[in-house]
Amino acid sequence: MAEERTLALVKPDAAEHTRGFIENAKEYGFYIVGQKVVWFTPSDAGIFYLEHKTKSFYTTLCLHMASGPVTAMVLEHPLGETIKRWRMRIADTDPNNAADGTLRHRFGGGRKELHRNVVHGSANPKDAEREIALLFTGLELA
Ligand code: GDP
Repeated sequence: MAEERTLALVKPDAAEHTRGFIENAKEYGFYIVGQKVVWFTPSDAGIFYLEHKTKSFYTTLCLHMASGPVTAMVLEHPLGETIKRWRMRIADTDPNNAADGTLRHRFGGGRKELHRNVVHGSANPKDAEREIALLFTGLELA
């Protein structure tokens, strides 16, 4: 059976650290089965984050996601539980609560605005499937 996959995004506020995210993912055993740079429009970001449409931060989040290049990666871990493993690597939504050594701590420490939390990881298998299908065609994935 194919291993579970997840979608990782390096957000625009962390574009200069993209190489660090890629190296960290590889170091922790993830295979990068798809990768590309995308530039969301605010409306693309709105579709991506549709579940947050009613939240006060929705517009700010969408404008932020459209403010620069985003590196999108589809990850797979040979030991399974890819979604949970990547969420553990990125850590808490608020970088200020993220544990030492996690990606949101390392690249997002000291951030005051929660939408600038440097990286995304799908929350569950249904979200992962939807998010991967939004950004990648089958031909773009190994
Ligand atoms: P995640 O699964 O950890 O990414 O968190 P959520 O799915 O709850 O939120 C999606 C994204 O919205 C987060 O990664 C943040 O970038 C942003 N976000 C969440 N909560 C807030 C908030 O209270 N304020 C702001 N400005 N942004 C938020």
